[in-house]
Amino acid sequence: MYNVKSMKAEEFIDHNEIEETLSYAEANKNNLKLIDSLIEKAKERKGLSHREASVLLACENKERLEEIYALARQIKEDFYGNRIVMFAPLYLSNYCVNGCVYCPYHGQNKHIPRKKLTQEDIVKEVTALQDMGHKRLAIESGEDPVHNPIEYILESIKTIYSIKHKNGAIRRVNVNIAATTVENYKKLKDAGIGTYILFQETYHKESYEKLHPWGPKHDYCYHTEAMDRAMQGGIDDVGLGVLFGLELYKYEFAGLLMHAEHLEAVFGVGPHTISVPRIKKADDINPTDFDNGIDDETFAKICALIRISVPYTGMIISTRESKAVREKVLSLGISQISGGSKTSVGGYYEEEEEDESSEQFDVSDKRTLDEVVCWLMELGYIPSFCTACYREGRTGDRFMTLLKNKQILNCCHPNALMTLKEFLCDYASEKTVKIGNELIKREVEKIPNETVKAKAKENLEKIEKGIRDFRF
Ligand code: SAM
Repeated sequence: MYNVKSMKAEEFIDHNEIEETLSYAEANKNNLKLIDSLIEKAKERKGLSHREASVLLACENKERLEEIYALARQIKEDFYGNRIVMFAPLYLSNYCVNGCVYCPYHGQNKHIPRKKLTQEDIVKEVTALQDMGHKRLAIESGEDPVHNPIEYILESIKTIYSIKHKNGAIRRVNVNIAATTVENYKKLKDAGIGTYILFQETYHKESYEKLHPWGPKHDYCYHTEAMDRAMQGGIDDVGLGVLFGLELYKYEFAGLLMHAEHLEAVFGVGPHTISVPRIKKADDINPTDFDNGIDDETFAKICALIRISVPYTGMIISTRESKAVREKVLSLGISQISGGSKTSVGGYYEEEEEDESSEQFDVSDKRTLDEVVCWLMELGYIPSFCTACYREGRTGDRFMTLLKNKQILNCCHPNALMTLKEFLCDYASEKTVKIGNELIKREVEKIPNETVKAKAKENLEKIEKGIRDFRF
């Protein structure tokens, strides 16, 4: 029985509820009266339920789709402005005891080189990431209690935060590791992590079990209930995601929103972010072996609908996607992107030989961080290296309050400009500096509060003189 507040995976992600939702959506996909009323409801910016959003996902009416895209753009603009937060993944280890059939790190892959960064390697990798200009990382690791126990992850986080190279610093470490215990989530919280990210991969239990035939990740309920344990462990920024291509996208979309509704109902705060990865080619993985791949149009539709259904949730896109796809979905709701990413263990400090590659998947967008930053600004966005909210304790519902009170322009906007200025001073190419300084000059005038505006201008001058790390 479906119960949004239940702590049992099979009740808050109830299979029958999803099936009924999909039938309801299919039956109403041409019901323009209902569709118009749902679009009107979404305009109130309070979100949509999984059922309501599923009807819009089923709708194929071109005019209505254009309306949905326009609304997604408007909500993005109103809630997030033109800021795009930058980050990079850091792969710690590809040792893994799971059998995920879409991932080349699965335990039966005998030819992929297995690598694990030592603390000295981490210093080299993080120094290289700091030299690119990164301030925010997402650490990634396979699941292996012997090679990658929680103590290794905690020690690595400590090392990452301790590295201060030139003007560089990693100020927020997000963590994407396998589902674990409340006790371990508490330890991660104490280590000062930002968001705990865990992709569900698929919400379809039967498929999930086939796609994860063995290893601890085989346990659907343990995996699906991980975010509840993370919240119980005190982590209040959690990041959801499904790996599109594994199951029918309409099923995944409903499941994803049900998961968000569950977190909101039980903990009073929904997910901090939603990621939208699609399966990519990898060492012994061919994406065409999976029948549920989605085209770019459908992908854009999903992004727009997530944006209007959960307006307060950040959305992340990685370098799995090409420049063209990233450009398209940025305006529809994406608020964070990675740049200059490597998906191999140890790829930042030293290029790997091709036959020695430990990569998790092929990266589509291979541009440098400087190129990505420059491109974003040419498109009218402000690349932001801000990590202030989490460092000021504005996580979970406190961050949502900021968003809901529309204080973004007095807080996130100046923080974005100040951290961009640091990037321009320390790491950018001449072209990027020129475009960036012009952008900052224009954008600083948009800060509504006069005191904040004056302070931001003062700080920008101080950054030019070499002082770092200002925040509101
Ligand atoms: N090992 C951790 C776990 O089990 O959740 C998470 C880290 S894993 C490095 C990060 C994510 O990469 C996975 O959750 C999966 O969705 C994604 N991934 C795995 N194989 C992929 C592929 N071939 N293409 C695209 N993404 C993939």
